[in-house]
Amino acid sequence: MIFAHERQQIIETCLYLQEMSYFLGTWGNVSIRVGESILLTPSRVEYSIMKPEDIVVIDMAGNKLKGDRNPTSEKEIHRQIYNLRNDVFAIIHAHTVYAMAVSTLEIDEVPCIVEEMSQLLGGSIPLTREYVRAEEHSLLGIEASKCIQNRMSLILRNHGSVACGNSLSEATLVTQVQEKACMLYLNAIATGKSLRLIPEEFIASEHYRYKHTYGKEKT
Ligand SMILES: [Zn+2]
Repeated sequence: MIFAHERQQIIETCLYLQEMSYFLGTWGNVSIRVGESILLTPSRVEYSIMKPEDIVVIDMAGNKLKGDRNPTSEKEIHRQIYNLRNDVFAIIHAHTVYAMAVSTLEIDEVPCIVEEMSQLLGGSIPLTREYVRAEEHSLLGIEASKCIQNRMSLILRNHGSVACGNSLSEATLVTQVQEKACMLYLNAIATGKSLRLIPEEFIASEHYRYKHTYGKEKT
């Protein structure tokens, strides 16, 4: 079967995210890009019974290439981000608790308050402008791709989290770090004290160092 390894990786990631309580029911979806093909979780299939052949393959224009199932109804989030960002090879959309709590606040972004955000996420976490109704699939993708800029994650207004990575394991870590950052932010603002942010001038270099030279530097 073509993309057998990637199909298996997607299923294992879904099961892990379910175990972490990041996926409830069939809310949440996972994708990998291989060349000009996008592999996506199918619409409304329980993760516990998902099989490799249930994974749907589409092209960069959204046409189905392989699979009997329909791709996730939120495929446009994935497709439009892949079309925009050639450094992204995996995307996870999850309905995680703290990202969802933050998605209801009258803010445009979660500011960059801790090192994991500057290093892995590339700075603050942007939020899309407005709630998009569930059936407006294309608009949801447009809003997500407009919002992400050069970051590795974003939050969909009144909805949930989107995390990108150069691999599925990195996208999983981005989901976890984003969730932790949202929890920290909510706890910090609950104190009523003002926040100290990581200075803007440090963010790009810390992200670059983490991505390209961290662990490879001479000591
Ligand atoms: Zn969703």
